[in-house]
Amino acid sequence: MSCTVSTARTIRSVCVFCSSSDTTRAEIRATAADLGTCIGKREMRLVYGGSDMGLMGITARAALAAGAEVLGIIPRRLADKVRSLDITEEIIVETMHERKAAMFAESDVFIALPGGIGTLEETMEMLTWLQLGYSSKPVGILNADGYYDLLLQFLDSMVAEQTLKPFHREMIQVAGQAGTLLDTLAAAGVSYRDKW
Ligand code: AMP
Repeated sequence: MSCTVSTARTIRSVCVFCSSSDTTRAEIRATAADLGTCIGKREMRLVYGGSDMGLMGITARAALAAGAEVLGIIPRRLADKVRSLDITEEIIVETMHERKAAMFAESDVFIALPGGIGTLEETMEMLTWLQLGYSSKPVGILNADGYYDLLLQFLDSMVAEQTLKPFHREMIQVAGQAGTLLDTLAAAGVSYRDKW
């Protein structure tokens, strides 16, 4: 448990992207639960993909248990198929694009827990909007038990290859602990536009 109640009160809603797999490592599942608990303890709201699958379910359950409001945003086609959870609020949309727009509108910061293609796509789109100035909402990678080490190395190699600007690389907040990442995202929420 990395969470102590602290300064990150300016963040109202935290959008979490994460794996739908039910068979991730115990260390990763523990970090997902820790993040949900931190969100609740800090009186924030969790915004997420809306199902009970994998790390999504673990994070949402922990957030609810710690007193958080939980908003799930899910396309109708998925909602009809997947396990759901008794959460505070659900928004059903028709398309994946609508879902992304709603997640963006409802959230102040974005966190990637370990995940696969879906998680990467969601996180990279938020980073793209950030680096192009369509967004000023901070994005962080929760590097649970080193899960994202290879991606972080690849991002550094992009800088070396000059396909990623150093200041865009610096916009990507990274921490191994949920509480630390929330603190970092709270502190990061101001000066991105100045970098242009
Ligand atoms: P993945 O990392 O490929 O497991 O995809 C997870 C991400 O994609 C989540 O953050 C969700 O927003 C979305 N997603 C993937 N599968 C589902 C599902 N079964 N139910 C709801 N959202 C999902």
